[in-house]
Amino acid sequence: MDVRKIAAIASGVIAAAAVTVCVSLGGRKTEQRSLFSMDTYMTLSCTGRGAEKALDAACAEINRLDSLLSAADPDSALSALNISGGGKLTGDLAALVGECFALCESTGGAFDAAVLPLTRAWGFTAGEYRVPPENELEAALSLSGSALLDYNSATGCLSIPEGAGLDLGGIAKGYAADRARDILIGRGISSACLSLGGNICVIGGREDGSAWRIGIQDPQGEGYLGVLSVKDAAVVTSGSYERRFTDEQGNEYHHILDPKTGCPARSGLVSVTVVAADGMTADGLSTACFVMGAEKALKYRAEHGGFELVMLCEDGTLYATKGLDGGFSSEHAVVWTD
Ligand code: ADP
Ligand code: MG
Repeated sequence: MDVRKIAAIASGVIAAAAVTVCVSLGGRKTEQRSLFSMDTYMTLSCTGRGAEKALDAACAEINRLDSLLSAADPDSALSALNISGGGKLTGDLAALVGECFALCESTGGAFDAAVLPLTRAWGFTAGEYRVPPENELEAALSLSGSALLDYNSATGCLSIPEGAGLDLGGIAKGYAADRARDILIGRGISSACLSLGGNICVIGGREDGSAWRIGIQDPQGEGYLGVLSVKDAAVVTSGSYERRFTDEQGNEYHHILDPKTGCPARSGLVSVTVVAADGMTADGLSTACFVMGAEKALKYRAEHGGFELVMLCEDGTLYATKGLDGGFSSEHAVVWTD
């Protein structure tokens, strides 16, 4: 955990998107768990009867999903699927893969989980970042894309051609947040904040009934871009400032790929925050909107609805959608939009 994260926690400012922590002020003691899972730091906190056991169960569920869904772990169920060329999906994998295909279709391929050959070529899967040579990039691009796969959502049968594969990194944390949330709700918890890296999921409001206040990290400076006030919601941020590296010439690269070019998306956005009812939707859409860029993302939202956006552009423009209403405050100039 870096110094800024610790400072954010210590100062009691509730959260910063990729760095988010929730602090309940006053009232009963807040139980908290911190864990490193799904390649990120997570903090789960809640109040209420049975909070400790509920949090333990939620952590166990997140770790279970990590070992199931990791594209980096050769022993995960996802890797088994990628290696064996598919199979009949059930449970978590069926839910996630079904959503991935639906999102790929609705976003015109901006979100496409069938980018494993590309995330491998860029070294994101193994955590050894590199710029792939042109011929390798071409080969990876020709093996990427959901159109190469065959998925029957009615039967759950998936077939993956050799060399192709799924990387669920753009959606898995949001899904895990939803499952953890469901476990807490099932155990009677009515006030909780789950922070899975840049994926926040809150149950209810804070213990005193007020909204959770979630700070969105300012990638271009210290502090926050603004603060979201939410109850019963998922808040997920995707940014080009995460998992980035610089080559010898000083060119910067990051881990959200444009499936059409096979290269890190250059859409004019620095960060996208999605507010939605569930984590899986918010996570998938934050990745998709980042690839689309501000204009296409707003058009997509106008057509599909069901979520709100805060987007920071490279030129410093900060967009927020009007549906956030009084739920977003910022010291920066905000362009409110439909
Ligand atoms: P984070 O992992 O920081 O929360 P995202 O949710 O935006 O960020 O997901 C980025 C991850 O999703 C990448 O590391 C990769 O595994 C995968 N990915 C990259 N580009 C795409 C894309 N266009 N569509 C779907 N998944 C992607
Ligand atoms: Mg995402």
